[in-house]
Amino acid sequence: MIDSSINILEEEEGVARKRINDLIEECPQLQKGEALIRKAFELANEAHRGMRRKSGELYIFHPIAVSRIVASEIGLGPTSVTAALLHDVVEDTNINLTDLESLFGPKVANIVDGLTKLDSVLDQNASLQAENFRKLLVSMIEDVRVILVKLADRLHNMRTLDSMPEHKQYRIAAETLYIYAPIAHRLGLFAVKTELEDLSLKYEHPQVYNRLQEKLKTNEADYQTIIDSVALPIQEQLDKRGLKYTIKARPKSIYSIWRKMQAKNIPFEEIYDILAMRIVFEPTDNGLDEKTQCWGIYTVITSLFRPNPDRLRDWVSIPKANGYEALHTTIMSPSGRWVEVQIRTNRMDEIAERGYAAHWKYKDEEPAGENEIDKWIASIRHMLENADSNSFEFFDEFKLNLFASEIMIFTPKGELKNMPVGSTALDFAFEIHSNLGYHCIGAKINYKLEPLSHELKSGDQVEIITSEKQQPKYEWLAFATTAKAKTKLREVFRAERKEAVAKGENLLNEYLQEKKVTINARLIKRMLDNYHISNKEELLYQIGKGAVNLDNLEKVLPQKSPNKWMKMWKLSFGSKENIEREDVDDDYEDDSSDPAPAPMPKDKNIVLSDEATQSYAIASCCTPIPGDDVVAYVEENGTMTLHARQCPQAIKLMSSMGNRIVAAQWVSHKVLSYLVAIDIEGIDRQGIVSEITKIISFEQNVKIRSVHFEAQDGVFNGTIILYIHNTDDLQTLIKKVIKVNGVESVKRKDKVE
Ligand code: MN
Repeated sequence: MIDSSINILEEEEGVARKRINDLIEECPQLQKGEALIRKAFELANEAHRGMRRKSGELYIFHPIAVSRIVASEIGLGPTSVTAALLHDVVEDTNINLTDLESLFGPKVANIVDGLTKLDSVLDQNASLQAENFRKLLVSMIEDVRVILVKLADRLHNMRTLDSMPEHKQYRIAAETLYIYAPIAHRLGLFAVKTELEDLSLKYEHPQVYNRLQEKLKTNEADYQTIIDSVALPIQEQLDKRGLKYTIKARPKSIYSIWRKMQAKNIPFEEIYDILAMRIVFEPTDNGLDEKTQCWGIYTVITSLFRPNPDRLRDWVSIPKANGYEALHTTIMSPSGRWVEVQIRTNRMDEIAERGYAAHWKYKDEEPAGENEIDKWIASIRHMLENADSNSFEFFDEFKLNLFASEIMIFTPKGELKNMPVGSTALDFAFEIHSNLGYHCIGAKINYKLEPLSHELKSGDQVEIITSEKQQPKYEWLAFATTAKAKTKLREVFRAERKEAVAKGENLLNEYLQEKKVTINARLIKRMLDNYHISNKEELLYQIGKGAVNLDNLEKVLPQKSPNKWMKMWKLSFGSKENIEREDVDDDYEDDSSDPAPAPMPKDKNIVLSDEATQSYAIASCCTPIPGDDVVAYVEENGTMTLHARQCPQAIKLMSSMGNRIVAAQWVSHKVLSYLVAIDIEGIDRQGIVSEITKIISFEQNVKIRSVHFEAQDGVFNGTIILYIHNTDDLQTLIKKVIKVNGVESVKRKDKVE
């Protein structure tokens, strides 16, 4: 027995060693660091010996897989590969950083340190992943390789997510979509980003994912025909010109298709630009620059096929902020389907696929601070240095920095700035210089005077008008959209705020002393509820500012009000009243001990049945009903709120407070009803509304809470709020209503308002 298990282990370790050999052989950039990499492998192998992942595989296969991604998919060198091999040893074994530093040098040790710090906090019961994320950024601005190895680690974990418990899957998938995919995008790692997105969708909405995958498969032959009809004539022309090139074509990623369907509210069949073709060519030595050669190919293509003038994208003249360069056009294929064509050189292609790493390979000698990615990292550094203690806010701001698309704005002197879509004149002022931001009063946009809140369009020329007397205003936060503008404004307001908080604290203490009430957590909670304020600091600030009048506090003090109502939905067995509002009496006592937080059932899925004994609140931001993919968020007091899994609020919570998220599943739901709103549009005619409502209440036997219809110029639209058992019933109902003569569309609304 013992002998055979040792043999198996030896055999597996042999496989592991072979993978390292293969990796070094396949990646020429690793050869100069071969000895270091082998040393790291031997150490990691020994340290993890006997450990296995949930899949049963030896643990060492995970760091090996991560280092393969690091080297062959991101294109990094020996230092990063060494760090990737060692990324879990400090955390999981008794090897420490000092050991690593003496064996592998300070660079490797620092990268591992950055990754370890992050993971160890992440696994604890930390209240805020947002805080940990900030730590990751701190390490990242010291050495970008920390985040690159982290992305590789995350990618491998996503590829092997099946072996994780379900409640962790959602959290990891949501976090991946919320933070890691955008970072990959921002660093220009297109392939990594796309895979992370697809895998996240696969775990968040397995049914959606499988259905789309199925559809792409079914249409494969059609796609090939369309692609051939476009690619063959292009090939012929390019061959005639003696060009060296490759043409690759494929449908867009499942996630991007899904996003489009969501954004435009259209079915798969109506997405017209599902196919993308890429021409990657080697520039010829004909004296023309790469850009001109790209346009040359563009001319070849557009003399064969008609281009869509609205869909020309020129990132060869001005690359994207993440370094992306290419020329995109969308052409009409002979079969009448649009096909997107991307034209790139080899160099552009490598940058597009591998991002940051490839960027550096081509621009080795470029001084730091000169390129867009360095600028981006510098802006993160600035945000970190000036961030509030509120990690959540910081988190949001960081998100602002991860834009998908950009516009180009010109200064009066014709200098070009890349700005995020949605930027305002105020953002632009801060982009140029913070002093310009502090003192701006308006802007001349294309020589026309506009307010600071004016949203800029690509190609605008903007001149900021200032006045020495001007001071930053709170209202500006409403239309400051870039992280830079927001951060700068907050810096100014923070000092002001500190003062007001201190003042508020004094006022409150004096007031409570006078009333002979001692302050405790419960009292604070009551005050916050009363004013609908989220935290104590904000309350003190409001008091200090005079926005909260202390005389109004009277009613939350213990002697005045013994009861406080709390709104909560309770699901209980057999209740005829379908949804029953339960009033929870939080019998107020003036003791200073807080109620013990309810234990969180972390490791099991919550089953939501008609017999459910536990109370749930249905989140008002997304109002899920049985049949929807949901997660439960455990509130601080132990109650649960159900969110739809794609609800932006839920995704944010999963990413930042993932340890409070519990997977939830609906089972048979025939007894209880939930509120759902549907929008109906169509051509108006006499009696149509009553026909619709009749179908709903008599044929479908569904209770209606409210009906609101408006008609104008022969077109009507309306909203009906219903009590419904589950998504199946809703689908049946929608199918019935859409058959009513005149009804053009019936859609479920994201939330019930
Ligand atoms: Mn790992």
